Amino acid sequence: MRDTILQVAVDVPLRRRFDYLPGARIKAASLSPGMRLRAPFGGRKRIGLLLGCAARSAIAPDKLKRIDEAVDAAPLFDRSHLALLDWAVRYYQHPVGEVMFTAMPGLLRQGRVLPTADEEPPAEEAKEPAATIHLNPDQAAAVEALAADPRAYRAHLLQGVTGSGKTEVYIELARRVVAAGEQVLILVPEIGLTPQFLERLRRRLPTRIAALHSKLGEAERLRNWLAARDGRARVIVGTRSAVWTPLKHPGLFIVDEEHDLSYKQESGFRYSARDVAVMRARLAERPIVLGSATPSLESLRNARSGKFRLSRLRRRAAGAAAPVIRLINLQNQQIRGAFSHSLLQALQENLEAGNQSLLFLNRRGYAPAVLCHGCGWIARCARCSINMTWHKADKRLVCHHCERRRALPSACPECDGERLLEVGHGTQRLSRAIAERFPQAKVLRIDRDSARRRGSMDEMLAQIESGAAQILIGTQMLAKGHHFPAVTLVGIVDADSGLLGADFRATERMAQLITQVSGRAGRADKPGVVYIQTHYPEHPLLRLLIQQGYDAFAASLLRERRQAELPPYRYLALLRAEARDSAVAVAFLEFARERLAAMAAAIAISGPYAAPLEKKQGRYRHQLLLQAAERKLFQSHLGDWLLELESSAAAKKARWSLDIDPQDMI
Ligand code: ADP
Ligand code: ZN
Ligand code: ZN
Repeated sequence: MRDTILQVAVDVPLRRRFDYLPGARIKAASLSPGMRLRAPFGGRKRIGLLLGCAARSAIAPDKLKRIDEAVDAAPLFDRSHLALLDWAVRYYQHPVGEVMFTAMPGLLRQGRVLPTADEEPPAEEAKEPAATIHLNPDQAAAVEALAADPRAYRAHLLQGVTGSGKTEVYIELARRVVAAGEQVLILVPEIGLTPQFLERLRRRLPTRIAALHSKLGEAERLRNWLAARDGRARVIVGTRSAVWTPLKHPGLFIVDEEHDLSYKQESGFRYSARDVAVMRARLAERPIVLGSATPSLESLRNARSGKFRLSRLRRRAAGAAAPVIRLINLQNQQIRGAFSHSLLQALQENLEAGNQSLLFLNRRGYAPAVLCHGCGWIARCARCSINMTWHKADKRLVCHHCERRRALPSACPECDGERLLEVGHGTQRLSRAIAERFPQAKVLRIDRDSARRRGSMDEMLAQIESGAAQILIGTQMLAKGHHFPAVTLVGIVDADSGLLGADFRATERMAQLITQVSGRAGRADKPGVVYIQTHYPEHPLLRLLIQQGYDAFAASLLRERRQAELPPYRYLALLRAEARDSAVAVAFLEFARERLAAMAAAIAISGPYAAPLEKKQGRYRHQLLLQAAERKLFQSHLGDWLLELESSAAAKKARWSLDIDPQDMI
């Protein structure tokens, strides 16, 4: 490199690069973009990533510090990967250093030098190969469509009901790509699912498969990352952050359960791994497959507009019939605990028939609130604007937003009354009620609390598989990925929270959950029945979902969204601000609003208003919502605005962040 100013990204939340001069001990000619350097920064040395070089800097040469040490002898990322990261910086309008460092495993962030020789892991035991599966005609047709043009960018939406054999389609596609000497990156939503998924791939694909998820130790993570980067691993399976893994010979990208919210990072650098994967495929000029039984409205719209090609698997592969869905009207019914008489009756019969049942409630803990019968006092988190959840098993009140825990007071702090009532139901309470009602049954609760201990999820899955457990009670952890062929009854205990949710996406999520949970049940000889308890049996969207299925439901919701000018027909960005003093956050957002209104008339601004969860961890939270008819309006207008905000006095007093394509509006 002949230019002498080094432009460096440092892991700090500032939207700028830092300029340096090469020191006497370093040869500028030996440097290239993508290498790590040790840069003097704020009185110490920090790891920086070289982004490029320039002939001049806005800073006077005698003010520039010198860099004397490179960490890497060769770039960590090649040019195409740097181009992807550069796109992410511009699309998400996020500080460049944080983006670059997100893309590295922890050890590299800390400055670990790359091993020189290949550190091959010990050879894995050869897995007993699985019996060959012959793809059914639907699957075969999907494979031909998805693999039609393997050396070009194509985005495919593979919509197939749960159990329709999408994973088999992925495996066949991966086999072809590996045979052609290229690599496949497969993203999956949950860490909990990766072991089973990996096991299945290892039995079917005789090639090196590398996993990348947060449960790996740092050393193994780095080893797998390098194996992917250097092309030694041919199939890479990982959760959200694996989307940043560099690939030497990218051949195919797959995002399983593309609608899943876990693909969205909800702190720091808020990216969508699904959307990044689509851009990766485009830059690499290779196909991408987004698979789901319940595609997001974003992807369905892309399929309608022709941006994505739609392939479908309409039937369950192993011959299972689609479940029958029945609504239970709770209006004026006698309810015992959280259960209608009809649901209890159905459970009883299913148990007597020797079948498994699954009850779904997306709320962990015992009761979502504790209140004083004397004066109505409610146990609230001292730091968040929310009720604390009663975890009876631990004898603790727990805040589900900040995890703060405290003992239940022995009497009401307001009136000294001693009758504190447990209000509402969580999974713990359901389990207790069901265990009391059906003492002969083994009841298994599956939620974040019961799965916390290492290995406990595997144990529970084994109990389900062996039939040792008869009634399963769980949160959305149960709705993902696992098949429970012996489950023939599914009870959705409370559909109403989804229907009444304040978030405009609440109904979409409710429908995805109901469809996913329902799809876990039944097989050819034991079809499933799904009971949905609701106070709103006439709700048009609910009826549509049940009578005509997810497609008709989604089509109707898309019409609503278009009329209401909401995503996917509009693009949103959310500027969040929080401070101990509410007025400080509001003042910052007002300033931000005023500046943006002066700069970009095409962007509609609403707010500032208080966030639905107004106080969290002792800070008051406010929001400014930006809305644009075209994506590129954000990219062309928000950059200068953010730089102005970043250097303003108001910005120093509040914590703030920008969320492009926000999912969680809380
Ligand atoms: P999905 O990923 O769509 O949920 P899977 O690929 O996991 O579906 O398939 C569901 C079940 O059907 C699995 O047990 C799988 O082994 C089986 N299966 C898939 N395709 C076939 C096929 N062509 N023939 C026989 N069984 C199949
Ligand atoms: Zn009281
Ligand atoms: Zn809290």
